Amino acid sequence: MDLKFSAEELRFRDEVRRFIDDNFDTELRAAMARTRTGYIDKHLHVRWQKRLAAKGWLAPNWPVEYGGPGWTPVQKYIFEQEMSSAGTPIVVPFGPKMLAPVIMKFGTEAQKKKYLPDILESNVWWCQGYSEPGAGSDLASLQMRAEDKGDHFLCNGSKIWTSEAQFADMIFCLVRTAKTERKWEGISFLLIDMKSPGVKVDPIITIDEPSLGHQEVNQVFFDDVKVPKENLVGELNKGWTCAKYLLEFERGNAYSGGLKRWLRQVREIARAERSSDGMALIEDHDFAQRLAQTEIEIMAMEMTELRVLSSFAAGQNVGAVSSLLKCRGTELQQSVTELAVDAIGHYMAPFRPLVSGVNEEPLGPDYADGLAPRYLNMRKTSIYAGSNEIQRNIMAKAILGL
Ligand SMILES: Cc1cc2nc3c(=O)[nH]c(=O)nc-3n(C[C@H](O)[C@H](O)[C@H](O)COP(=O)(O)OP(=O)(O)OC[C@H]3O[C@@H](n4cnc5c(N)ncnc54)[C@H](O)[C@@H]3O)c2cc1C
Repeated sequence: MDLKFSAEELRFRDEVRRFIDDNFDTELRAAMARTRTGYIDKHLHVRWQKRLAAKGWLAPNWPVEYGGPGWTPVQKYIFEQEMSSAGTPIVVPFGPKMLAPVIMKFGTEAQKKKYLPDILESNVWWCQGYSEPGAGSDLASLQMRAEDKGDHFLCNGSKIWTSEAQFADMIFCLVRTAKTERKWEGISFLLIDMKSPGVKVDPIITIDEPSLGHQEVNQVFFDDVKVPKENLVGELNKGWTCAKYLLEFERGNAYSGGLKRWLRQVREIARAERSSDGMALIEDHDFAQRLAQTEIEIMAMEMTELRVLSSFAAGQNVGAVSSLLKCRGTELQQSVTELAVDAIGHYMAPFRPLVSGVNEEPLGPDYADGLAPRYLNMRKTSIYAGSNEIQRNIMAKAILGL
């Protein structure tokens, strides 16, 4: 594979860098330095996303007809790498990355007109209503009901682990519209206004939250919620097809840019820290070997991402390969953050999850601050978007044919 950029690609890289210099302002940088979850305050996400949208860069994977930039795979790669390397905010995925491709493929013309522009402009904020208390890995066991009442559906039930639901204007939900022998056949894909009477969002407070300063997950309750019929996406009782299609986009992320940035940070820490016999940690044989091993694995991840990126056109789903990217990407997120807390050694201990609000100076060097919460927060990545065990089952069937 020839990885040298052409003159035109280098010009594009410079344009991306200029955009970052001009738009990634001090307040956004400070918020990104503090976040351990990847999320920052909603108004800051909106500010960043509107700046991307104004440049036509919010949705690199959308086809041009819907407002995508029409980039080549190499441009997409350059964009991802530059954004990750600078540590810019994520584009909150629920609207642009997850729902939009489903609407493009299964939605009516009216739904495309109504929802896609507001997603692109970050005017309407979405969340994902898939999981339920009794339906996570076994998602098709979901129980939330949507009864046909003529001109509307009447929805009852609840969704759990709903990320960022407290900020959402709308939720896309999988609901049961028929009782069938094969449980995935009676499911439909419904768009629900979070301001509808009968919708209630309860926060789920996790142990790391006080120190993270950001509450992430919720349970959402639906009590006799009326949803207009036109909010059904795709065919009635065929929502499972939409659900699976969306998951491929949810899982098919690029991880290597962010991983490389975190690894650079670990390397800097290892230069500053001493091992038990007084030498720089980076000189320690065992630590240096782990660092090198992780770097090699990240390079392999990057090559895989490039390969996948270059073989798919804009707007196309990557299929079961998304499970491979999700598994490897999240395993590496966990190993890099583990390496970071190993590098700071006992400075991990003053992590203060339960005593937020104290005004004491954090103990230890500045670079140790926040690494323990990030390490703990990354435990989530092998669970959400379908656990890694489930991804291995998918790969075994769909890729290896077992
Ligand atoms: C931080 C976070 C954010 C989330 N955000 C959202 C969101 O916004 N919207 C949403 O809908 N959901 C969200 N989720 C839910 C997430 O998708 C589920 O947690 C996930 O699918 C696992 O389901 P579960 O928690 O019910 O675990 P379970 O399904 O009960 O699984 C428990 C364990 O058993 C293993 N297991 C289960 N079945 C099998 C099997 N067949 N083979 C091998 N191992 C198996 C699992 O891998 C896991 O280790 C989020 C989760 C987290 C942690």
